[in-house]
Amino acid sequence: MGNKERRGVNFKGLLKRNWLLLATVLSVLLGISLGIVVREYASLSNLHKQYFGFPGEILMRMLKLVILPLIISSMITGVAALDSEVSGRIGLRAVVYYFSTTIIAVILGIILVMTIKPGVSQTADHIDRVGTTPNVTTVDTLLDLVRNMFPENLVQACFQQYKTKRKELEPPKPSAETTTTIPPLATTIMAANITKDYKIVGTYSDGINVLGLIVFCVAFGLVIGKMGEKGRILLEFFDALNEATMKLVQIIMCYMPIGILFLIAAKIIEVEDWEIFRKMGLYMVTVLSGLAIHATICLPLIFFVIVRKNPYTFTLGMAQALVTALMISSSSATLPVTFRCAEENNRIDKRITRFVLPVGATINMDGTALYEAVAAIFIAQLNDYALDVGQIVTISITATVASIGAAGVPNAGLVTMVIVLTAVGLPANDVTLIVAVDWLLDRFRTMINVLGDAYGAGIVQKLSKRELERMDLTSDVDVANPFALEANLDDEECEKKSYVNGGFTVDKTDAISFTETSQF
Ligand code: ASP
Repeated sequence: MGNKERRGVNFKGLLKRNWLLLATVLSVLLGISLGIVVREYASLSNLHKQYFGFPGEILMRMLKLVILPLIISSMITGVAALDSEVSGRIGLRAVVYYFSTTIIAVILGIILVMTIKPGVSQTADHIDRVGTTPNVTTVDTLLDLVRNMFPENLVQACFQQYKTKRKELEPPKPSAETTTTIPPLATTIMAANITKDYKIVGTYSDGINVLGLIVFCVAFGLVIGKMGEKGRILLEFFDALNEATMKLVQIIMCYMPIGILFLIAAKIIEVEDWEIFRKMGLYMVTVLSGLAIHATICLPLIFFVIVRKNPYTFTLGMAQALVTALMISSSSATLPVTFRCAEENNRIDKRITRFVLPVGATINMDGTALYEAVAAIFIAQLNDYALDVGQIVTISITATVASIGAAGVPNAGLVTMVIVLTAVGLPANDVTLIVAVDWLLDRFRTMINVLGDAYGAGIVQKLSKRELERMDLTSDVDVANPFALEANLDDEECEKKSYVNGGFTVDKTDAISFTETSQF
C-alpha cells in the first residue's frame, strides 16, 4: 500500500515536473493527426492553409522576439562574469570542442554515404529539380562571415546582415578602329579568351546579424568586467535584462504546445509531393542514420569520457529544446528553450551557458556539416562522378566551413551547400535535386545542432571546473550569503539578488548548483 502510494506520488511529481514536455509531445502527435485529417477531408485553398498555420506562426514570432535581448544580455553578463584570462580559456575550449565534433560528424557522414551509396542506383534525371540555385562561393561566404563580425551599425545589426554578391562585368567593347582592322574570326577568338571579371556588390538582407552582436558583446562584456565598480551599474542592468527575458521565455513556453500543434499540422497540409520521399528514401536513411549515430554514440561518448556522467540523462534534460528544434528548424529560435533546459534541468553553470550556447547556436552545427557532406557525395553519385581522395578531403573541409557559415535559421544549410558542390566541381544547380526533402531533414539536423551545443556547454563546464571554483573562492564573497558583505541584506533578500563584485556576478543559486548539485 505504502509502496503504491509512493508510486502514485512519484508519478504525480513526474507529471508536474514534465508537464510541458509531455504537452509538447502530445501536441506533436495531435498536430500530425490533425494535419492528416484536414489534408484528407478538407480541401483548403492556399489562403486558408496560411490562416490555418497562424497559431504556429505566432509561436515562431514570439521565440524570435526574445532572441535579441537574450543573446545581448547573456553574452555581456557571461563574459563580464569571467576575467579575461578565464573567458579566453573557456572560449578556446568551446572552439576546440565545436571544431572536433563537427569534423567527427563530417567523417561519419562520408563513411556512411560511401558505404550505403544512396545515389549509385539512380541518376540525376530521375529526380525532379525544384526551385532555383542560390549563388554563393566559398571565399565570399568566408569574407562575409568576417564582415558580419564587424557590423558598421549596431542598430542595423539587430535586424540585418551584410551579404555580397558577385556581378559579372561587361567585357570592354572593342573600339571602332579595332573592329574594322581585325577580321571577324579573330574577334570571336579574342572574345572567347577574355577572362570574365567580376565586381563585388554589397547588400543587406533581413535577419539578425548574430555573429556581429556576439563579437560586440564579448568585447563590451570584457571592458565592463575590467571597469570594476564603474561598470557595475551596466552589469546589473544586463543581468536584470537577462532574468526578465528568461521570465518571458517561461511564459512563451506555456503557449508552445498550441503553437507546435498548428506548426506541424500546417506543414503536413502544405507538402505537395510525398512520392519524392520514396525516390529519395535511401538518401534520407543515410542522413538520418548519420545524425542518429552522432547523437546517440559519438557525442555521448565524448561527453562520458570527459564528464563521467550519464550522457543520456543529460539528453533527456534537453528534451524540450530538442522537440522545439525538431518542430521549428531553427537553432537560433530554439536558443531560449536551450538555455532553460541547460540551466534548469542539467544545472549547467550560467557563467558557461551564457557564453557557450549563443556562440554554439551560431557556429556549431554538427548536423548541418554531416548533412552537407552526405548530400554532396550523394549528388556526385547521382551524376556518376567519381571523387578522388583529394576531393573527399575538400568536401570535409568545405562542409565544415559551410556549416559554420550557415545561420541558425531554417534551410540555411541548403544555401551554403553550394559551396561544397562548387569546391569539387559538381554542378551547383544540382542542389535543386535535394530541395524537396530538405524541410524534413532540416528539422532533424537542427535537433542535432542544438544537442551538440548543449553537450558542449556540459563538457566546457567540466573542463573549466577548476577556474570556476577558483573564481568562487577568490571572489572574497561568502558564497552561502554573497550579498551580506556589502549591503547587510538578510537571507531572503540575498536569495533574490545577484551580487556584482569587481566586475563579475555571483548568483547564489549558480554557485551552489555548480559546487554540489550538478544533476546530469
Ligand atoms: N536549420 C539549421 C539550424 O538552424 C541550419 C541548417 O539549415 O542546417 O541549425
